[in-house]
Amino acid sequence: MKKVIVIITAVLTVSFAGCEQKPKETVNNKTTENSVTSANTKDSKESLPKKMADAATITARKQVPVLCYHQIRDWSEKDSKSSRDYIIPVDAFKAQMKILADSGYHTILPDQMYDYLAYGTALPEKPVMLTYDDTDDDQFNIAAPEMKKYGFKGVFFIMTVSLNRPKYMTTEQVKQLSDEGHVVESHTWDHHKVTGYKTPEDWVTQIEKPKKKIEEITGKSSHCFAFPFGLWNREAIPELKKRGVQSAYILSTKRDPDDPLFTIRRIIASGFWSAPTLYKAMIASFK
Ligand SMILES: [Zn+2]
Repeated sequence: MKKVIVIITAVLTVSFAGCEQKPKETVNNKTTENSVTSANTKDSKESLPKKMADAATITARKQVPVLCYHQIRDWSEKDSKSSRDYIIPVDAFKAQMKILADSGYHTILPDQMYDYLAYGTALPEKPVMLTYDDTDDDQFNIAAPEMKKYGFKGVFFIMTVSLNRPKYMTTEQVKQLSDEGHVVESHTWDHHKVTGYKTPEDWVTQIEKPKKKIEEITGKSSHCFAFPFGLWNREAIPELKKRGVQSAYILSTKRDPDDPLFTIRRIIASGFWSAPTLYKAMIASFK
């Protein structure tokens, strides 16, 4: 320890002695000098806690486009016109991913969105978030491999009741998505809307237990949520907060001016949209 102090003192003395012409000793001791400087910088950064922006500042930030997908498969005759909004034919999905990649978009994940909104942390150029609701297995079989072609990562909002049921993802598939760098988060236990929860037990069943289950499967913290049907009310937000949820996603309705982190907007990518239509809708909706 004493030796280190002696070296530092020597470096500082030499540095102060000649600002114009750096003596040879300073150059020789550059590593020591740099390590002292970076250690000081780190200390000062750690001593300043990050200050979260207020709601008005968060609301004023440019919105990042967030797309919401459900099923990705070709339509069958049985699919009604209204359900086709939620079913993207495979080629249409592929074209949508391609137009995003060709246009220079980079996918971001919920922690990046949170840091951007709460603290103003920079995002990659042309950010977009790709989210997938409801646990359908074509999200694993079709969406994930297609995203992989472009280095995209997505967010999978799952209902834990659906795991391992026919046509839904298995626990192993969800774990694999998480291991591959995608994010798996909660969309409740069985898709009941939060505006209908009446007892404390409802919150435990729909919010607490699924969060814990996801953490058990992925081995990672779960602190993000997507409201079923995009439906929310102001009473739900403190209930989510006290259960460790840090941000929540709605659909294309208006954000809460007081709690914008709990009402982050998304648009549903319609099964009727071509890739250019999706692109235009995305630009128009997120300003
Ligand atoms: Zn849903």
